[in-house]
Amino acid sequence: MRRKIVAGNWKMNGSKDLSEKLVGSIRFEAESLDNGVEIVIIPPAIYIGDVLKQAQGALSVGVQNVGQWQSGAYTGEISSDMAKDAGCRYVLVGHSERRQLFGETDELVAAKVSSVLFSGLVVIVCVGETLEERESGQAESAVSSQVRTGLSLVAQGEWQNVVVAYEPVWAIGTGKTATSDDAQTMHAAIRSVLKDMGAPADEISLLYGGSVKADNAAALFAEPDIDGGLIGGASLVAKDFVSICRYFPAGT
Ligand code: PEP
Repeated sequence: MRRKIVAGNWKMNGSKDLSEKLVGSIRFEAESLDNGVEIVIIPPAIYIGDVLKQAQGALSVGVQNVGQWQSGAYTGEISSDMAKDAGCRYVLVGHSERRQLFGETDELVAAKVSSVLFSGLVVIVCVGETLEERESGQAESAVSSQVRTGLSLVAQGEWQNVVVAYEPVWAIGTGKTATSDDAQTMHAAIRSVLKDMGAPADEISLLYGGSVKADNAAALFAEPDIDGGLIGGASLVAKDFVSICRYFPAGT
């Protein structure tokens, strides 16, 4: 059975105060959830300690990015070993903002994935096409090539720590969401690429991200190949984020 995950990516938002209040409320609300969803909070790295304190083991915690090295003279970077040491279970790699604003390539994504898996953490690898690629009929080939290169260094025994998040770039923070049909089609295509790569594709959780809100989560999560969501804006409001988690069908 695949892991069901709803992860909240705070991006460069938040504060010590918000980390305490927001995570405290999410933990409180999440206590009444009985649909088996794993909730992951991904704050700016500097607030990991505050978030872990509030999460009290009931919520998982992750970082938004790591360097591809384990340690050394890389001013400003943190490593996946450090994320693990701090108490994180997840690492986000290859978010479209990292790709677009910081020039991260698929090859760099592959190196970071390797480093996260070496540390024994779970990597959430983000892939997704631009609007231009979708409009020119290249969406599937663009995503497929991101998956093939980004996951090219994963060893056979490491796939259980790999999660893929499909996030069409045109849907992130724009209020536009892929239809549940389109998202399902892409998720099925990603699963078939993973199968072709020799991965245990049916066991790998695939998340959808891109303007997921309480009013579209139910339709997306009902699709057979969508195993959860990566949530940006709505993860900063406890009530909205927990409503999204609630829309996961029980017993799936
Ligand atoms: C994201 O940051 O990964 C994201 C999906 O953002 P939003 O939900 O705001 O579109």
